[in-house]
Amino acid sequence: MESEDVHQAYRDNLRRFADAEIKPFAAIVDREARFPAESIRALPKLALAGLPFPEALGGSDGDLMSQVVAVEEISRACASTAHLMLTCWVALMPLVVAGEPDLQRAIIPEVAAGRLQASFCLTEPSGGSDVAGMKTTAKKCEGGWRINGAKRFISNAGMSDWYAVLARNAAGGFGIFMVHRDDPGLSFGRNESKMGTRGSPLADVIFDDCKIPDGRVVGDPSGGYAIMMEILTYSRPLVAAQALGIAQGALEEAIAYTSQRKQFGQLVSRFQMTRGMIADMTTQVETARSMLYRCVAVAGENDERARAFASMAKLVCSNAAMSVTTDAVQLFGGYGYTKDYPVERMMRDAKVTQIWEGTNQIQKLLIAKHAYAAYES
Ligand SMILES: Cc1cc2nc3c(=O)[nH]c(=O)nc-3n(C[C@H](O)[C@H](O)[C@H](O)COP(=O)(O)OP(=O)(O)OC[C@H]3O[C@@H](n4cnc5c(N)ncnc54)[C@H](O)[C@@H]3O)c2cc1C
Repeated sequence: MESEDVHQAYRDNLRRFADAEIKPFAAIVDREARFPAESIRALPKLALAGLPFPEALGGSDGDLMSQVVAVEEISRACASTAHLMLTCWVALMPLVVAGEPDLQRAIIPEVAAGRLQASFCLTEPSGGSDVAGMKTTAKKCEGGWRINGAKRFISNAGMSDWYAVLARNAAGGFGIFMVHRDDPGLSFGRNESKMGTRGSPLADVIFDDCKIPDGRVVGDPSGGYAIMMEILTYSRPLVAAQALGIAQGALEEAIAYTSQRKQFGQLVSRFQMTRGMIADMTTQVETARSMLYRCVAVAGENDERARAFASMAKLVCSNAAMSVTTDAVQLFGGYGYTKDYPVERMMRDAKVTQIWEGTNQIQKLLIAKHAYAAYES
């Protein structure tokens, strides 16, 4: 297992950076539900925009553990910024693993440098859990493809320059198509008003006979589904890291607040019930971290259990985030319920980690499938 210590210096550096350059904008982007432009502009200072991409394509070839630590530390400061950062990474990962070199060179270096952004488009109005039931089509035409349909709840829609779109072809298979924001026939729905991660835009991406040239298919035009499933095994640990970072931030806030707030003539931190809650919260955060790092180790060994471990990490970390942030609000008393303190934002931000990148019910289905594999294959 890759030890936490190996990445400790990297984590320390990230924490200093996130505290100085990201955290100061977290409350304001949430309050105004606006794009975290300052934070996103800062990411290239630590080469974060291109962290997972190959060096030959302008990235820094960071391993999964480095990516997890980066997402954790950015989420501890601002979950919206981490949401956008990992969205760009996930959107281009199909291109990294299966794209033609020309298409890779045309897109990845600009995103790795933080000059362009990218989104991934799976979910549709008819459903997100049943990915194979999607209706968006890509039809071969002279010199390219025509895409028709709509994708729902797409992070960074309208702001991203590139969209990795999973669509059904005439043969019934699925392809991944790279669509540019200026391609004819592409438009965006209204920006959704959300509970949390309010700095991260969310909208429909609509394809009305959207024409793209031939060279924009990622690998086999019928092989996209398998690639996307592989990418979800990569992306779920990142969402788990987002959840863990939020939980870590809320725990630290709760410890600091209860260490200076007095009731009945003594610090709230001296009450046994407070100490019991903080002990439970700390244990949940560390349990979640252990699960996530175990998942990273399994992924590194190219182990067949990687998919189930990715689901377990997302399940454990997102549930920990929801529980720890809710308790943090409780420990702040009435102040926790106001927007003057960050814990209510963290509680709202935590919720999405139980929903996106496959709901936790879907994760349980995948874990159970793995558990029963020997009997039901
Ligand atoms: C903030 C945010 C950002 C997002 N970003 C993106 C993005 O960038 N790209 C993208 O493609 N999608 C994105 N999504 C979409 C997200 O992945 C979907 O919302 C999610 O997969 C659930 O799909 P759905 O909303 O259609 O719910 P549904 O699939 O309709 O599910 C409704 C309920 O039924 C449950 N359910 C469904 N099937 C089963 C089953 N077989 N057994 C038990 N329970 C079941 C679900 O768990 C859920 O509780 C985002 C969503 C949000 C909220």
